[in-house]
Amino acid sequence: MTETETIIERIQREKKERAAALRARHESAPYPPAVSSLCLNQTLYTPIQLNPERDDKFLYSLKFEKQQFDAHCVYCGKQSTFRTLTDRMPSDVAAEKARVDAFNRPATDRLKRLNLADGQFALHLGCSRHPVHLYSYFFAYNEKEGVLEKIGQTPSLEDVAGADIERYRKILGDDFAELRRATGLFAHGIGIGSFVYLRRIFENLVESARSAADPEGQRETEFMRMRMAERINALATYLPPALVKYKDTYGILSKGLHELTEDDCKRYFPVVRAAVIMMLEQRYEADQKAKVEAELDRAVAVIAAETKDA
Ligand SMILES: [Zn+2]
Repeated sequence: MTETETIIERIQREKKERAAALRARHESAPYPPAVSSLCLNQTLYTPIQLNPERDDKFLYSLKFEKQQFDAHCVYCGKQSTFRTLTDRMPSDVAAEKARVDAFNRPATDRLKRLNLADGQFALHLGCSRHPVHLYSYFFAYNEKEGVLEKIGQTPSLEDVAGADIERYRKILGDDFAELRRATGLFAHGIGIGSFVYLRRIFENLVESARSAADPEGQRETEFMRMRMAERINALATYLPPALVKYKDTYGILSKGLHELTEDDCKRYFPVVRAAVIMMLEQRYEADQKAKVEAELDRAVAVIAAETKDA
């Protein structure tokens, strides 16, 4: 501020600066997430900066258009497709509105209480198996700032994610507890903490491949000296293919613990977790296949012995 600047000039200058800062925030906003990801992976109260001009269609679609995605239904206990209800109004609100309309009295005030505040809107989706299985999401949009926030949902992120990983309980063994902890922390909005558990699962996978490749531990010091990427290459034939393919996830997880922000971790978590789950599933499938093959080996050997005698 120069000495000759008057108060009016200062107010105008500050106003311009604020407008420029807001424009810069709008222009640098990343593309908005998919609606499914917004509903299933986005933690509550995390501001999502939009670019109002560019994202006009996205907002319109989120508010008014049909939406559908696949998700685990906590009521069915199965994967299902969720679709927006046509009028997006819970049935009792719709019934009340019909009642008020029918009597044609100026009773719309009665309904005000049931309206959401300005800038807030809801998204209700019904399970395609049983439409009474309702997944509801509530959003607030600050038009001036261009900031969207998920401010509520039922069932909770934790209930959906927690039930979703239940199907892995049988196949994951000890890693299930780690996966559940990671998912629970994420659902509570703790990004970096959730990375700790995913990284541990990753390390367990590599360690079990190492003990399969080197059961006597003769090459232990050799493996210890390797960096993770080298270790993965050396053990590639013993590891789930997804772990070799997505070995970069280890770098992301490690970076998360030291360098990434909470928000970065929360943004990356769903993808990194999906990669880790794929690795765990492949290990389970390989174990199952090995069991079947061992049984078949035995059965063939028995028949071979019998037919030799004949
Ligand atoms: Zn259902």
